[in-house]
Amino acid sequence: MLGQQILELLKQEIPQIEYDRYIKQLRYDEEASRSDIAIFYAPNPLIARWVKTRYGEKISHLFEIKTGVKPQVVVEIKSPKKKSVTSKGGELSEIGTSKPSSKSTILNPSYTFESFVVGSSNQFAYTAAQRVAEKPGELYNPLFIYGGAGLGKTHLLHAIGNFNLARGRQVIFTSLEQFMNQFTHHLRNHTMDRFRDKYRSCDILLLDDIQFLSRKEETQKELFHTFNELHGAGKQIVMTSDQHPKKIAGLEERLRSRFEWGLIVDIQPPELETKIAIIKKKCELNGIHLDNDIVNYIAANMGNNIREIEGIIIQLNAFANMMNQNITLDFAKNVVKNQLKERSENITIDDIVKVVSKELNVKPSEIKSKSRSKNIVAARRIVIYLARSLTPNSMPSLAQYFGMKDHTAVSHAMKKINEMIDSDETFKAKIEELSHKITSATNE
Ligand code: ADP
Ligand code: MG
Repeated sequence: MLGQQILELLKQEIPQIEYDRYIKQLRYDEEASRSDIAIFYAPNPLIARWVKTRYGEKISHLFEIKTGVKPQVVVEIKSPKKKSVTSKGGELSEIGTSKPSSKSTILNPSYTFESFVVGSSNQFAYTAAQRVAEKPGELYNPLFIYGGAGLGKTHLLHAIGNFNLARGRQVIFTSLEQFMNQFTHHLRNHTMDRFRDKYRSCDILLLDDIQFLSRKEETQKELFHTFNELHGAGKQIVMTSDQHPKKIAGLEERLRSRFEWGLIVDIQPPELETKIAIIKKKCELNGIHLDNDIVNYIAANMGNNIREIEGIIIQLNAFANMMNQNITLDFAKNVVKNQLKERSENITIDDIVKVVSKELNVKPSEIKSKSRSKNIVAARRIVIYLARSLTPNSMPSLAQYFGMKDHTAVSHAMKKINEMIDSDETFKAKIEELSHKITSATNE
């Protein structure tokens, strides 16, 4: 059976303990799944969320390797004893009631405005989302939300959807990737009418991670028409992206300008206080108790990606349950340390080159070349500096990567960057920003 085969493939790629603890408990629903949507059942919300955040993308990718189609992976909650078929009370529910077959429009009922913690970093985006939810098509159309990974963009999108779903409106939620997969699927099967009917008949279109439009000409063309239809009919469009529309490379000008028609809001990384409030909220929602010193420790030591912070809470709780003991500060420290260590082991020099070259507008091949031109040398030094702090590479191994004679050039680059960080606040901030971009890009 396909689902089982996929999980077997996954088993070979992940630690045995993770497989035994989480993946083994999944059941694949062969009947309900289709080529573009794979549905699994988990016995409880913790496992469902863990699998989805940690392995969702990987599972989807394995399906793609096996079948050629990359499906949306859905993990619903169903206790093994109960045979109930509906997902009522579960993590996920289906929307678009008049078209029960359109399973791509799936909302997470726990992502609501009420469960979203507001702080100064996300206040503006939150308010805009709430106002649009209350008066779809009337205020800001489209609403464009952008910001880094794990800062709550998708959560707000679902909140708008849930709010309107409860009011009987037709809502479609889809990631851009999913939109594109469906588009190519219908194009290939000559069923574009169905695709267009679906997307052009909703009241609210929620499009997640629009940055993947980059250089996808055909999809952009189709979205352009969808956008015009919906906008012309006064229907609401809300989009998210990791960057401002101006910064999405390879985006047609006519689409870009449309994205700027309404309101563009950003979400900033949360301040410490907001992080603490979010952790408390997540504990409350999941029925987990953490002492204040543990909450503070996690908030201060984990980065800004709330998804990763949630991962820590889930891990702590799972271990504590399994070992039947309370969560102590020492225990929490260990889990956080392991997570941070694992993260740095995941980052390669190539990841760093990729992010730095994109941000500084030079080619990866130039960074790796022997070019002495000023901006390339600067980019190369930054890569070296970041590789030293984010990867376990030694100076000699970095020298080898860049084809340098020995490590003197590496240590010279380190010295230069350190001097600049000490003397220039803006430069220091830029390095921190790059560092965040790299760690979040490799932890998606
Ligand atoms: P993004 O789409 O920006 O990458 P998500 O919306 O997927 O991030 O958020 C990641 C996780 O963090 C989700 O589980 C979400 O509920 C949680 N989260 C992010 N910001 C907040 C917030 N302000 N309040 C509560 N939960 C949040
Ligand atoms: Mg998201």
